[in-house]
Amino acid sequence: MKCPACQNELQESVVAGVTIQTCLGECGGLWFDRFQFNKLKVLKPGIGKSLLTIERAEGVKIYRGAEHTCPACKTTLLYRHFFSAEWDTEINQCSKCGGFWIDLAGLAKLQSLPANQRKQAVEKYFITVIDEKLSEMRLLHGDMAEQAQVLKRILQFLCPNNELTPPEQAVGDP
Ligand SMILES: [Zn+2]
Ligand SMILES: [Zn+2]
Repeated sequence: MKCPACQNELQESVVAGVTIQTCLGECGGLWFDRFQFNKLKVLKPGIGKSLLTIERAEGVKIYRGAEHTCPACKTTLLYRHFFSAEWDTEINQCSKCGGFWIDLAGLAKLQSLPANQRKQAVEKYFITVIDEKLSEMRLLHGDMAEQAQVLKRILQFLCPNNELTPPEQAVGDP
């Protein structure tokens, strides 16, 4: 399977029983097919965080403005739920097979910040980039609300997102 963004050969990774195709060493994008979605329901948030920070090549961002075809269906163009050049983030989905193509380079970069700055930066990222988008998706129609739920689970799988829990509930977190 080829990366829909940079045409690199995707590598298969299995994390906590979830199979993900990763664009290792190039753009760092991740492909989740729909057979993985149910598995995500029962997993601890953040268990797939190693995928967020897989090795990326610098400067593989030239594809950003282009449309991508589904790596599985090959001919279907991916629907772009979200794109931000500023936040180096792109979330696409295939309307035919339902798979998600996700590039969270912006969020990955924040993981290298010192802990005290990271918390705030990740919080800002989720508030500014993700939460608003998820709310918009929920408001559109039932099917889109369901996709928003799947996307939320994928994001929780990749990032524990503790940063959004109120401080009193975060006590005891490492
Ligand atoms: Zn790629
Ligand atoms: Zn597809």
